[in-house]
Amino acid sequence: MLLCTVCQLEMKCTKTNTELKLHADSKHGKQLEECFPGATKIAEELLAAVGKGKDADVGGGGKGSSSGPPKADRKKKDGLDDLLNSGLDAFKKKGKN
Ligand SMILES: [Zn+2]
Repeated sequence: MLLCTVCQLEMKCTKTNTELKLHADSKHGKQLEECFPGATKIAEELLAAVGKGKDADVGGGGKGSSSGPPKADRKKKDGLDDLLNSGLDAFKKKGKN
C-alpha cells in the first residue's frame, strides 16, 4: 500500500500502477511520482518478481505491437533493415563521441 502525499489516501500499489496513475492524474493533475514517490520502483520490483518467464501485461504502452511483419514481407525488407542498422550504428558511434 502507498499513501498519496497530497490527500493521504491509501492506494494499492500494483505492477502497472494504473490506479495510482489515475488517482494522481484525475484527482490532482499530477504525475504518479509526485503523489506516490517510489511507486514506479515498487512497480518495477513487482514486475521483476512476477514477470519472470511469461510476458507480464505492462500497462500504458501499446498492446501487441511487438509482433513483427509477416515472413513474406520480412525478406523484402532485409536490405532495408541492413541499411537502417548501419545507419543507426553510425549514429550511435557519433553520439558516443
Ligand atoms: Zn491523492
